[in-house]
Amino acid sequence: MDGVSGAGLTWQTLDLHTAQPFGIARWTQSVYPRTIVTLDRDGVQGRGEAAPNAFYGETGGTVEAVLPLLMDALEDPWDWDGLGARLAARMPQGHPSVKCALEMAAVEWCATSVGLPVWRLLGLSPSPLPQSSYTVSIADLPDMRRQAREAVAGGHTILKVKLGTERDEAILEALREEVPHVRLRVDANAAWSRARARRLLGVLEAARVELVEQPLAAGDFDGHAELRARSGVPIVADESLHHVSDVVQLARAFDGVNLKLAKLGGPLQALRALRIAREHHLTVMMGCMIESSLGISAAAHLAGLCDWADLDGALLLADDPFSGLEWEAGSLNQPLAPGWGVTRR
Ligand SMILES: [Mg+2]
Repeated sequence: MDGVSGAGLTWQTLDLHTAQPFGIARWTQSVYPRTIVTLDRDGVQGRGEAAPNAFYGETGGTVEAVLPLLMDALEDPWDWDGLGARLAARMPQGHPSVKCALEMAAVEWCATSVGLPVWRLLGLSPSPLPQSSYTVSIADLPDMRRQAREAVAGGHTILKVKLGTERDEAILEALREEVPHVRLRVDANAAWSRARARRLLGVLEAARVELVEQPLAAGDFDGHAELRARSGVPIVADESLHHVSDVVQLARAFDGVNLKLAKLGGPLQALRALRIAREHHLTVMMGCMIESSLGISAAAHLAGLCDWADLDGALLLADDPFSGLEWEAGSLNQPLAPGWGVTRR
């Protein structure tokens, strides 16, 4: 569906498709509605993407319902603090991917109007981005072996393996056999019980796993703190982090945090979360949803500040509507073109 508002804003929702069904502990999905917002003012465009995720209470339908209510928050694209305040006042809870799309559009409009890539406008250093992991999603064992083999053949050196099944031990054993030298990270997507996670710690260490994302339920801070005390593998919060204000309390239970623009409400909110995480000695991952190269590029602009990157969301798509992001053997180059640096195909 397409929409228009009076302030030079338009939006369009596209169904993006993964090249193969994408399975995690909670669900398997192939179709992802993504809404592209465009601010067109004074001959300059700024674009943003809403990548809703049902875990955070959003769907394609909620995005389309809420967007018209928030559009006029973007009256002055240079007033970033005012935008944040207006979005929070109008919609105090939830809808982070819609807020992200509007924040992305404002920030890109400003960067493009002065001819700079966004990271330059933000005053960030021209640093190389951390190597990104590539996801092996949950499927039968031969298929997971194939995904790993093809990713490594394609130049990826870090795999993030989705776990949270009854056969996690067998998956790790099979992948270690298939791709013995690759760096492995795992993501349980909140699916393990405390007892199951404790039993798996030794398996993770034996498989030389570099980090484990969200082993336990999102609200189980005590469980994560106990697990961290026993674990030789760093424990990273993803589903436990919904909002910038969560970061401080995560520091007592986790070693690191996975920042995603679509769940935090945009690049400026992610930057706030990142600064707080650093003050509390958390290791930081820049992550993503399944989203187009527009959303991935926005995350890439901040990834130079992070220790880990997991930015393969658009690589998993069969129909990425944007081009311009440069990948080299599993590494994303820092975007150099003005704005977010990507072009609609
Ligand atoms: Mg995760």
